[in-house]
Amino acid sequence: MTTATADALLGALRARLGQDWVWTGADAAPYLTDHRHRLHGQAIAVVRPADAQEVAAVLRLCHAAGVPVVPQGGNTGLMGGATPDQSGHAVLLSLGRLNRVLELDTDNDTITVQAGCVLATVQDAARQANRLFPLSLGSEGSCTIGGNLSTNAGGTQVLRYGNTRELTLGLEVVTAEGEVWNGLRGLRKDNTGYSLRDLYIGSEGTLGIITAATLKLYPLPAGQGSAFVGFPSIDAALAFLSLARQRLGAALTGFELIGQPVLELVARHVPEQAQPLPGLAQPWYALLEASSEAPDGAGAALLRLAEQALESGLLADAVIAHNLQQSGAFWRLRDEAIGVAQARDGGNVKHDISVPISRVPAFLRRTADALQALDPGLRPMAFGHLGDGNLHYNVSHDPARAVRHLFALEDRIHDVVHAQAHAQGGSISAEHGIGQVKRDALPHFKSPLELALMRRIKQALDPLNLMNPGKVLS
Ligand code: FAD
Repeated sequence: MTTATADALLGALRARLGQDWVWTGADAAPYLTDHRHRLHGQAIAVVRPADAQEVAAVLRLCHAAGVPVVPQGGNTGLMGGATPDQSGHAVLLSLGRLNRVLELDTDNDTITVQAGCVLATVQDAARQANRLFPLSLGSEGSCTIGGNLSTNAGGTQVLRYGNTRELTLGLEVVTAEGEVWNGLRGLRKDNTGYSLRDLYIGSEGTLGIITAATLKLYPLPAGQGSAFVGFPSIDAALAFLSLARQRLGAALTGFELIGQPVLELVARHVPEQAQPLPGLAQPWYALLEASSEAPDGAGAALLRLAEQALESGLLADAVIAHNLQQSGAFWRLRDEAIGVAQARDGGNVKHDISVPISRVPAFLRRTADALQALDPGLRPMAFGHLGDGNLHYNVSHDPARAVRHLFALEDRIHDVVHAQAHAQGGSISAEHGIGQVKRDALPHFKSPLELALMRRIKQALDPLNLMNPGKVLS
């Protein structure tokens, strides 16, 4: 890339989008660092198109100049997918101005939104129409639908409603060459060939840019209840999950496992956060959520379930939230306090693995043993969506030693945790994607044929390798 090429492209982008929407220097800088401030990139410019036609124009200009494009939504991704590399040869395309709700169809139970809509805005729009858009993540105040689609985001309601993929009926996508594919179909049945929609979902911006989506809506539950429970063992937690599914069926909307060391970390670093159960005497805890058609039905169902499980010994302790305030405090513990405690602790080595639910106990035991063998000071901090077999298996440092000892072992810790997940038939990325952070690990856990098939798809849809290069595939 010569300076003349970059300058010519900058001029063409400014002519098409207007001076105000092509940023360089200090204006561009905040977009070039990832959410955790661990990755820093460079770009010719940050561009902020207003609609799909402008996105297409940017892609045509970049395609003609042979310049890569890195799409970015809310920049809350944890795998560095939205951060360009250090070469400075790419254009970063922010979807932030594509932020309109285009249509809400209550008869079809669908909402059509532009890709830069913040997730919380979509949830609010649905609620105002007395509907539920169930995708729910800790980052929902900043992440965008386009980012959710591109990472196939999960969150706390997957147990009942599925990942972003299961919530999506149609997409609008701009191809690497700058064509606009309008696939915004609100159809629940459409068997007319290859599912391009499913190809783009989860592709992390490496095949094209999603500019809009038609998403499924659900009835807004009249009642919701939460319970916080303690288990004598991880096997009891699994048996209780199975019982809860039998008893509550589709009313069970969340089941968040939290290890006792995680709650201790919260107690140490976030003392202002109320602990739902005193003593922290059990090795495992869980936060459950149930929904109901009657306003008070969910709390009553959770109470009956907890009583039965306490009697049979599956539960060692339980508390049912009596009101919205108490329920809110339970969820703040899960959604906010754990993250704050980990940050105040000096950071940790993070993982986002999944295994078949039945293999969770074996994964936990074997991984803890393998980490002890690596360094007896390592402290596993496991929590996550047990109902999806998805654990955020983070590893903290020995409080008696400086955190740099932990980060010196970072690569070896990843190797141990990923190998153990793989050995249990699991995945190294349950919901955060691959991005640049896990790109080099991927070939160790996918067969050569699976990787070759992925490369053929990439080659077909992006032959010049201009769509978010260096992400997912090397
Ligand atoms: P970005 O970070 O901007 O981008 C993510 C990837 O998608 C990049 O590869 C980018 O190039 C690509 N991309 C973005 N927009 C588009 C587009 N329109 N077209 C094509 N490609 C695009 N994730 C979960 O799955 N579950 C959780 O529970 C969860 N909790 C989180 C909690 C916190 C506090 C934080 C900080 C993150 C959490 N995440 C979670 C991760 C993150 O929020 C999700 O991955 C989210 O979907 C990213 O959305 P975004 O708009 O921020 O995307």
